[in-house]
Amino acid sequence: MAVGVFDLFSIGIGPSSSHTVGPMRAAAVFAEELKGLGKLADVASLRVDLYGSLAATGHGHGTMTAVLLGLEGFHPERILPDEVEERLAAIAETGMLQLAGAVPLPYGVKDMVLRPLTVLPRHTNGMTFTVSDAEGNVLHSATFFSVGGGFIVREGEEDAAQQELEESKKELPLPFRTAAELLEHCRETGLGISDVMRINEEDSRTPGEIREGLLHIWSVMEECVATSLKREGVLPGGLKVRRRAPDWYDRLKKESSRPDGEGQDQDFHDPKYWQEWVNLIALAVNEENASGGRVVTAPTNGAAGIIPAVLFYALHFAPGMENASQEDRDDVVVKFLLAAGAVGVLYKEQASISGAEVGCQGEVGSASSMAAAGLAEVMGGTPAQVENAAEIAMEHNLGLTCDPIGGLVQVPCIERNAIAAAKAINAAKMALWGDGSHRVSLDEVIVTMRETGKDMSSKYKETAMGGLAVNVVEC
Ligand code: SF4
Repeated sequence: MAVGVFDLFSIGIGPSSSHTVGPMRAAAVFAEELKGLGKLADVASLRVDLYGSLAATGHGHGTMTAVLLGLEGFHPERILPDEVEERLAAIAETGMLQLAGAVPLPYGVKDMVLRPLTVLPRHTNGMTFTVSDAEGNVLHSATFFSVGGGFIVREGEEDAAQQELEESKKELPLPFRTAAELLEHCRETGLGISDVMRINEEDSRTPGEIREGLLHIWSVMEECVATSLKREGVLPGGLKVRRRAPDWYDRLKKESSRPDGEGQDQDFHDPKYWQEWVNLIALAVNEENASGGRVVTAPTNGAAGIIPAVLFYALHFAPGMENASQEDRDDVVVKFLLAAGAVGVLYKEQASISGAEVGCQGEVGSASSMAAAGLAEVMGGTPAQVENAAEIAMEHNLGLTCDPIGGLVQVPCIERNAIAAAKAINAAKMALWGDGSHRVSLDEVIVTMRETGKDMSSKYKETAMGGLAVNVVEC
């Protein structure tokens, strides 16, 4: 299947799409294969090897616990936050893992083999699962790579996966890999960027399913914010980072109430405070992500707050939205996510959305660029203006390194989402005040991001070995 909007916006758990969602998914695939092979009953031992970035920052990113849950058969898109806590407590207490939900094995986080200095050729986020029988004979073994945004690739199937992707793209009604191709479709058909994406999505879903699915994605983003605003205290992991969103929300409700003093109506958002609302949504999503809550990868977990924050801006502060009907608001959500998704496809196709591969420019930069495109689209931008918005947002995120303190997706990640959301809004506004013509194309900036990522020292690619991660003392 070609990368689609529902691949880029998938529901999972925090704190990291590449280090939590991907490893859980890979472990769940391995557990299912064992079941399918009929070898479960013979399993006597399990070995998990984590390589490169997964080993270096896995503890802070919840990789090891995600792998345990995956091996028990849980999938990131279906597991409930309560189940996460319940199962991890049971494994810690009994020291037993229920492999594929059926075979008890003595296994826990401490049994995993961490190989931070070994980077497998395909990708820095590698993991190998091996099970053996009582005599030590290997029953099954598989290596997977978590390549960003929750996507996984099995070792040895990289070319086949790429070929399948290429073939499925050719079958799409309006296939595109580059912004130039996307704009060409717009020129030829007279359609907008979100329409091109919608037509391709209709290849695998009905129009109703697409609309319903995208509105569901937005509802999960809203639920994530609502849950986060009810939680207080410090985030897990030992950095003692305090949740700020609940206090900010109380303050904003007070300061942003109606001028006539009529209560603290949540539906009234004083335009004077648009920036504070955008900051609040980004913080709320990323604080929830940092605590392992349910989030939508957009396109990754570390960058999950940017698109909800900018979409919130579109719904509450964009011109003409004051008296919009529910249907109009739903249209905005669908159009926004489709346009953002189209730009996400470009990053996935030509570069990477993985912090471990290209640094934070691939995560926060891509999300900011996608959000800028979504906002420009719903504010009436032409395809050229939308492409310009996406280009501006990425241009000013180039070179952004990934250096999370303690390997936790907290500092600088949480605030960085708020800053990148503001950049996206500014990028969209700048593009909308132009006529779409500009010096640097989106394709050029995407290739630059990829090349910059290649040149970046591995210290700055989700290893927590450089930058803030080493210059700030963990308390
Ligand atoms: S610094 Fe950026 S890429 Fe790295 S973990 Fe944080 S959000 Fe993700």
